Amino acid sequence: MPTEIAPGIHRLATDYPHVCGLPLWLHVLDAGDELILLDAGIASTPEAATGPELKKLGLDLADLTLVVNSHAHPDHMGGNAILKDRSGARLAAPATEAGWLEDNDALVSELWGSDPAAMDLDDAERAELYEMLGDRVRIDVLLRDGDHLPAADRPVRVITTSGHSPGHIAVLDERTRTLFSFDDVQGRGQPYLDGKVWLAPLYTDVGRYTSGLRRLLELDFDALVPSHGDLLDADQGRRKIEQSLEWVDDVHKFTTGRLRTKGSLTVRDLAGAIGTELGDFGGICLQTVRMARAHLELLARQGGAEPRWHHPG
Ligand SMILES: [Zn+2]
Repeated sequence: MPTEIAPGIHRLATDYPHVCGLPLWLHVLDAGDELILLDAGIASTPEAATGPELKKLGLDLADLTLVVNSHAHPDHMGGNAILKDRSGARLAAPATEAGWLEDNDALVSELWGSDPAAMDLDDAERAELYEMLGDRVRIDVLLRDGDHLPAADRPVRVITTSGHSPGHIAVLDERTRTLFSFDDVQGRGQPYLDGKVWLAPLYTDVGRYTSGLRRLLELDFDALVPSHGDLLDADQGRRKIEQSLEWVDDVHKFTTGRLRTKGSLTVRDLAGAIGTELGDFGGICLQTVRMARAHLELLARQGGAEPRWHHPG
């Protein structure tokens, strides 16, 4: 049954725990003339979960008028085409990620294919990804920092946090002071539901990730709502943001120490070490590869590392 987490805001279950082994919540906001869905889930989510969840509230997919994507990752955008088809709702998303939100090939090659020497998708993984992404449709409303969602009766502010993905946004429901942080407040990662390994934090730029987290710390909020976990009150939310910042410091110290000890490092070397020694993340994966690259790039900008290419022969 959907839970009302604040007046006019219901939390909806998804099929993601069964498909990917992690919690994922969507939220529906009653904004008078507009019925707003925050995030779209993966391609199967609207019919497997969102439709049935809305029914329990006496609503239907067809009642949605606005769907917001917080960022261009499959679990936040995969349902777009089905939602558009069933409801005709406008799709709103960060302006800087519209390219990825409208083009699966660009997203997959630029995110998962960014470091071919460190990791590559096999055919099965690629097929699984495309299945979760579903068909792409045009984004109708491009959101920029400081915008309010196009809902006259309920002020919901857009805050660009960046970092976790280049244009990631948080949104603040100003009336109830509920802050939706989606994937931006990641702490030290989180355990998969089967408890074997953890999902590592994902960020592509250290400076943008930390400045986005600091922006969230400055906001007045009563509740912080992540996509992949439970609602946190203001104190818990602030602590989780602080922990996320501490994690970044820890990875940077680890990277600096590792490079000093080894003399040279590849992104793959560092990702493997972060994914086994700094956390129980199963070694090399998208998250650890992007994190390793982000910290090496920062170190290079600080003059503490020198990037090199060499002939493989
Ligand atoms: Zn994400």
